[in-house]
Amino acid sequence: MRATARPLHTHGMPFHAPRWCLAALLCLTASGCGNKPAPAPEAFSREFSGQKAFEHVELELSRKYIEEQLRAVGWTERQTFTDPTPHGPIEFTNLIARPADARPEDARAVVCTHYDTKYFAPPLRFVGANDGGSGTGALIEFARVLGRDKAFARRFELVFFDGEEAIVNFVVDSAPYDGLYGSRHYAHALSEGGRARQFKMGVLWDMMGDRDLDITMPSDSPPKLAAGIFAAADALGTRSHFGYFKNGEILDDHHYLNRVGIPTLDLIDFDFAAWHTPGDTLDKVSAESLQTVGQATLYFFCGADEQLR
Ligand SMILES: [Zn+2]
Repeated sequence: MRATARPLHTHGMPFHAPRWCLAALLCLTASGCGNKPAPAPEAFSREFSGQKAFEHVELELSRKYIEEQLRAVGWTERQTFTDPTPHGPIEFTNLIARPADARPEDARAVVCTHYDTKYFAPPLRFVGANDGGSGTGALIEFARVLGRDKAFARRFELVFFDGEEAIVNFVVDSAPYDGLYGSRHYAHALSEGGRARQFKMGVLWDMMGDRDLDITMPSDSPPKLAAGIFAAADALGTRSHFGYFKNGEILDDHHYLNRVGIPTLDLIDFDFAAWHTPGDTLDKVSAESLQTVGQATLYFFCGADEQLR
């Protein structure tokens, strides 16, 4: 992700991004009919545990752990593709999750994040605890909570994007592209496969675990969704953590989803001093922040039930 008002990072280094194969511990199973109302927002959203999400962020930093968990995956579809990049063709893998017995056409909302981390040449060690890790851990916890209401869960498709980070500099909307590889591929596949129109809305999580939480939504946020999140946060007593980014535009994975007609909100804290530095480590992330964003998102979706049918 980048903001247009900030200087671009040009690394110009060989790219060997760690393929942090995400352990999708996503073991939702769906059953039952699709007409059951959404769960009560207050109680259901409070099921989202920041501590559990935080533990996933912590564990996500261990590739071994992730690979072990992958063996237990019940309902993840791998979307693998190769794209040209400034450093030659690279293979990327999005992880798409739905309840095991949900049909792809059941989904009405997409909730997504990116799990790749920005590559910096050694000896620089970039962990990406917040930028990459936070959304990933939180989305695993989101899946656990959804699993408590099987019918509601079927209305969601969860996507862990690869290749969000630019290899050199962001280039979108005209080739040769750089950055947002996973979301561009996913959105185009939805569009070409005729699935884009089934989705009523989307929420993207990026860098949402900052201990000092200040969600700075981009200026291109779909207004109705933004209002919905503000109302949800109001109800949960966390409204002061949510606002708009005032220093320019933010280019992130929501871009291509909006482009194919799925109104998608980017819940991002771009007021993050450790962004793209070795300082983006676990101590900058808090369970409370993960919980604040996770609960507001769940509360919002419960209230948007009518639109998700
Ligand atoms: Zn980044």
